[in-house]
Amino acid sequence: MKEPFVRLHDSLYAIDDWQNEHPGLVAGFTTRESGFSKGDFRGLNTGFHVNDREEYVCANRQLIGNLLEFPADGWIGAEQTHGSRVAAVTKADRGKGALLYSSSFKETDGLYTDDKGTLLTLCYADCVPLYFLAKEVQRIGTAHAGWKGTVLGIGKQMVELWKKDGIPPEDIEVVIGPSICKDCYAVDDRVIEQARRWMKAEDQLPYSPVNGKPGQYHLSLQQLNQLVLLQAGIRKENIQITKLCTSCGDEFFSHRRDAGKTGRMLGFIGWKEAPHHEGIRSFARNSTKY
Ligand SMILES: [Zn+2]
Repeated sequence: MKEPFVRLHDSLYAIDDWQNEHPGLVAGFTTRESGFSKGDFRGLNTGFHVNDREEYVCANRQLIGNLLEFPADGWIGAEQTHGSRVAAVTKADRGKGALLYSSSFKETDGLYTDDKGTLLTLCYADCVPLYFLAKEVQRIGTAHAGWKGTVLGIGKQMVELWKKDGIPPEDIEVVIGPSICKDCYAVDDRVIEQARRWMKAEDQLPYSPVNGKPGQYHLSLQQLNQLVLLQAGIRKENIQITKLCTSCGDEFFSHRRDAGKTGRMLGFIGWKEAPHHEGIRSFARNSTKY
């Protein structure tokens, strides 16, 4: 399978196919490279809740806004509590959770919107970023799926909400983004028990035992999210999975590798507002009919 993420800058990976296919769409994931943070948070930390200095986090976020040409006053962020709540957001919510954590969407781990000019943003260090796109109606969404969110089925939750608005799962494309790989991630029976509800007899198991450690398993959160999405009705050919691991490579912050003392990357998706001249052009096109 082709790698969906392409590094466009030291600090940025983009979902290249989506961006090329849909002018104005911005979707990707940051690295820890460049940025203002120091020590454990060295580089481009975007997490407010990790005890980094707030002014560094804000400066890092503004730096990303400049790189994306999508200023932070158009961003929307969520509190992220490893739950499965997904919120619909609009232009009216712009700026919430962008430069002030307390203004972010409470107890929320997923966001979606139909509005242009809003960048949906969530923070990560090993958990799985999910990106959703229904291109016909130009709806976008994103969700934060660590093991808890994954077994709670946050990916399916997103699809169910879109279904209620008349978007069939067959029309939804999903990208599973940079996160901890199976080899780097070991969990115990407790997690596997909860993960099993998403596995059918015919599925290839997303976990395998850790050699010499009874009760411990390597788990692919990417593969488990794929099973959740397939059960939600997403077509297999519409799911792309990255090979980028946040723990293998030192270009990323990793909660596991760095024993909890580390920063966060930003996963983001948004449509830029059509430039003014586009509006004039389309008006002119329509006018020629008369
Ligand atoms: Zn790894």
